[in-house]
Amino acid sequence: MILRIHDLNKEYGKNDSYQKVLDNISIEFKSGEFVCILGESGSGKSTFLNVIGGLDSNYDGSVTINNLNLKYIDIDNYRKENIGFIFQNFNLINSLSVIENIILPIDKYRISYKEKRKRAIELLKKLNIYNIRKKKINDLSGGQKQRVAIARALINNPSIILADEPTGALDEKNGESVLKILKEIHETGKLVIVVTHSKKVIDYSTRVINIKDGKIEYDKVLKETEYIKDDKDPVKENKVMYLINYGIRNLFNNLKRNFFIILASSIGIIGIILSMFLGGSVKQYISDLILEKSDPTVLSIVNDDINKYYDEEDIDKISDIKHVKKVYKEINYSASKIDYNNSEYNISFIDSFNKIDLEKGNDNGFVVNKTLYKKMGKNVLGKEICLSLIDNYRVIEFYIKVTGVSKNSNISLLDDSMHGYISYNKIEDIYKENDVLLKPNNISIKIDNKNNKNKVKNSLKKMKIKVTNNDDLFKELSSYLDIATFVLSMFSSLSLIVSTIMISIIINITVLERTKEIGILRSVGYTKKNIKYIFNSEGIILGVMVGLFSSSISSSIINVIRDVIKDKFNISISLNPNKYYIIGILISVLVTLLSSYFPSKKASKFDPVKSLKYE
Ligand code: ADP
Ligand code: MG
Repeated sequence: MILRIHDLNKEYGKNDSYQKVLDNISIEFKSGEFVCILGESGSGKSTFLNVIGGLDSNYDGSVTINNLNLKYIDIDNYRKENIGFIFQNFNLINSLSVIENIILPIDKYRISYKEKRKRAIELLKKLNIYNIRKKKINDLSGGQKQRVAIARALINNPSIILADEPTGALDEKNGESVLKILKEIHETGKLVIVVTHSKKVIDYSTRVINIKDGKIEYDKVLKETEYIKDDKDPVKENKVMYLINYGIRNLFNNLKRNFFIILASSIGIIGIILSMFLGGSVKQYISDLILEKSDPTVLSIVNDDINKYYDEEDIDKISDIKHVKKVYKEINYSASKIDYNNSEYNISFIDSFNKIDLEKGNDNGFVVNKTLYKKMGKNVLGKEICLSLIDNYRVIEFYIKVTGVSKNSNISLLDDSMHGYISYNKIEDIYKENDVLLKPNNISIKIDNKNNKNKVKNSLKKMKIKVTNNDDLFKELSSYLDIATFVLSMFSSLSLIVSTIMISIIINITVLERTKEIGILRSVGYTKKNIKYIFNSEGIILGVMVGLFSSSISSSIINVIRDVIKDKFNISISLNPNKYYIIGILISVLVTLLSSYFPSKKASKFDPVKSLKYE
């Protein structure tokens, strides 16, 4: 491996603050060298190292590795495969374990976790810190931390180790042992470059360079080294696993804060799940109520004028319409009276029927509903009553036997009032006996197939007859219910907007807090995209948690609602809410993804060199 630097220039600032940090540096390094770069503080050593390490791409001139210009190759990949960084202040991630810190650079490699761990353990043993593997980073001494950092720098088997003042924060003894380790590393054929202002490093080096004001003041080879050619196989990456890994790890690292986020944003999600479930249940209840008892192939005429009667001529015309199978004539009376046992009963209405559900008896005579049955006394069944009907200002009075009791319609308004039924045939006979002409004031139209409903409707429209059936009624009702459900969900969505903004702010703070971590990740070879995905995946995993939490709370609430409704109204809600839980989880993921979108984007754009300096 040969690293060639040619005409390297770098400057900071403009006008008054202008400063040339690297001044026309040209130099070459080879595998097997142990280079010590000396220089006063501020002379440009770190800047030089960052350029070589691919952390800083903002320079003039060229840096090539094996004749490949860093400006034209994937710089993140270059870092990931070729570079191991060691810093003065260790730059370990405190929230991760020792092993996790060491594995970080190869987290996304497509090799098993077991293999990754094995490599880490090997390095721990080699560096004599196997015994600290279970300690927290914060509990380690400086020397131990630097060894962990060295293990991290070595885990990807890089060809270049760049150390920026690696002994700067260590006491003499620990400093020397770190240098010994670096010497051993260089003996395996790697290029080791150590930036320092301690002259001690010279003893370990094969070459010494002095930088002053951004220029190479002198460059001296102390010991000839053998050039070792090393070719590395390209690494295969695992695109998803490390993201999930990272997301879950963060969830636990910030358990308190994440729990707060989950709690706050689940309120809106629970609201949406419950509104959808309640809306759906009411809809199902009404649909059961209306559609269970109705025939979708029967259309009823909508009568705007109560006193409208239909002639035989009208009925024939309707019967002639294509797809009409049969026309049922009906008559309904709104004013009627029963005389029975010296008492009078004013009936809300009497309907003629073609088919009726009976609770008791038969439909040969007069059928009473349950309320009327109760009022008249239970032994009325089989008795004769005197019925007075008013049809078109004429009173028709006749005797008829009570033969049956109808079933409840389940619509309490109808069931609580007194009414009765007589078949149309029976009324026809009675009218004949009384020598009165019977004209129906209502018509039901039976069609051959419900799909032909609209065709028949259109033909009737031409005759200025409007019809409807229960299917239409249900559709209209259900569209109102949909609107109600939607409005209800909108209120919950308001709280979702609030939580989206809140999560976004919290993730933003997290990103700022983790600036250094982002710098570290970049230095060990993570790309901008990786950083964005890491924060996005944390968002998604948080979202899944919000969704699961909301679903389980909603599920408990739904069970309570079910029990209460069963208890109070004797109605059992059979609607399966699973669909709404899934929608809830999807919305949660969407919300957290939306919240983490901009913070993630921002995180990915952080400058790695600046992020590393962030405290
Ligand atoms: P060394 O590592 O040798 O102490 P550095 O390479 O860190 O020196 O810095 C070299 C010079 O560049 C210093 O004078 C420093 O002030 C300047 N410098 C470094 N980073 C920046 C920056 N982001 N903006 C402006 N000046 C900078
Ligand atoms: Mg420095």
